[in-house]
Amino acid sequence: MSSATYRSRVIVLRKTKLGESDLILTMLAEDGSQIRAVAKGARKPSSPFASRLELYSVADILLAQGKSLDIVKEARLVRGFEHTRTSMEHAAGASCAAELLDRVTQLGLENRRLFDLTEAALDHLDLAEAAQVPALTAATLLKTMAFSGFKPSLATCVCCGRDVNLAQAHTTLFVSYAEGGAICSSCASNYETVRLHSETCAWANVLLVSTFDQVESQKMDLSTAFSVLQFCQSWIREHVGTNLKSLQFLFTSGLFA
Ligand SMILES: [Zn+2]
Repeated sequence: MSSATYRSRVIVLRKTKLGESDLILTMLAEDGSQIRAVAKGARKPSSPFASRLELYSVADILLAQGKSLDIVKEARLVRGFEHTRTSMEHAAGASCAAELLDRVTQLGLENRRLFDLTEAALDHLDLAEAAQVPALTAATLLKTMAFSGFKPSLATCVCCGRDVNLAQAHTTLFVSYAEGGAICSSCASNYETVRLHSETCAWANVLLVSTFDQVESQKMDLSTAFSVLQFCQSWIREHVGTNLKSLQFLFTSGLFA
């Protein structure tokens, strides 16, 4: 008896070795849900899957429903993003987005905007100069969090709604990761807060509302981009419960020094 099949356009987020030559693929489906499936023989160089289901690739696949994991039957490559896979800097940025998506997406849980966001992010990353990778990565992580229901409020106090004067330069703002963002000085004593540079909060807020084209044209400097990425790491730790290993690698690798 043949099992039920279905088609999906996917982005490959993670590859895990299985047995001698198989792979388990974790993928973001077009509807924003997560698919985990086995690609049999995919680690053999002769396998058609080897070149069609690379990390970060967009592919159209045919799957057969299995008992525990579904099985990839066919795959057609749509977008390869080869530059991203072969450049250390670009791959480091893409891996942060993929690791976060692996954590926030779930089997059967639709979130349609996530696929379009991720494809647009990979599109821009693939063509960007290496120096732009940290800013594009920060924008991607913030938008992925926002679309997953964890958008930080940075312009107004999360407790009383007052303006926190984000535009004021060279000062620090109170932020509570647990409460969801910036807290004004009147409310700060009631909560556990950290102090962040106003520029870090202002830039994070700009990245949330900017298109990727705008992110690139703003030419954010590296130290600012990294301070926003540090904010992302703390924000993700608080709301997703994980320290992104790929982001930690970005901080310690020296790739952008
Ligand atoms: Zn307040």
